[in-house]
Amino acid sequence: MAERETPAIFVHAVERIYRQGDTALDILKGADLAVWAGQSVALIAPSGAGKSTLLHIAGLLEHQDAGEVYINDKATSDLSDAERTGIRRNDIGFIYQAHHLLPEFSALENVMMPQMIRGLKKRDARQRASELLSYLGLKDRLTHRPAELSGGEQQRVAIARAVANAPRILLADEPTGNLDPRTSEHVFSALTQLVRASGLAAVIATHNMDIAARMDRRVTLRDGRVVELN
Ligand code: ADP
Repeated sequence: MAERETPAIFVHAVERIYRQGDTALDILKGADLAVWAGQSVALIAPSGAGKSTLLHIAGLLEHQDAGEVYINDKATSDLSDAERTGIRRNDIGFIYQAHHLLPEFSALENVMMPQMIRGLKKRDARQRASELLSYLGLKDRLTHRPAELSGGEQQRVAIARAVANAPRILLADEPTGNLDPRTSEHVFSALTQLVRASGLAAVIATHNMDIAARMDRRVTLRDGRVVELN
């Protein structure tokens, strides 16, 4: 890992306060996290610590109250919504705990969709979607709709969709949180293999310590800051 290079993603001095009536919840209080290409980071912290908040801010899905998120060395906080959407579409893949696949479309179509939104020709999008799904062990499930897939298969389709546009950054929020341990293990193996093969910078929130142990780095959130665990 050439850490002298620019990180693919750098969350710097990020603060996030949720206000509810008279009370203010300081969830992030100067969080720093840099992740380089080809590096996988497990984010392990108790429920309510701010994992989703950190991932949403890193993924430009939510605005921080202070601090900056640099994507490939570019500051993002002052960009327009359209510019942030463009970065999200091209540079960042996001995997949620629930798959959020479109129910009326097949696995193949779900993975083609982000590519076509980006402007790829249908034929090329279909080719890449088919390759990705096959790589993730779903060669025989291309035409299945989400309801015709198991939980583990649905989540593998969600992984394929997240990386369909070959992003440089992958953020996953407890991607196997809804799966049984064995299925979870399968999905994670597929995910980590993909991360290694494609040189992604990945941050994956998980409660599974076995899985975390196999990633390059482990971090937690302590009092609103990111702390290395190794
Ligand atoms: P984690 O992912 O580690 O479980 P979250 O980032 O989801 O934690 O939430 C951290 C804390 O912030 C929780 O106490 C949660 O209730 C609170 N929180 C999250 N989002 C909001 C919101 N939009 N408004 C108010 N409070 C929120």
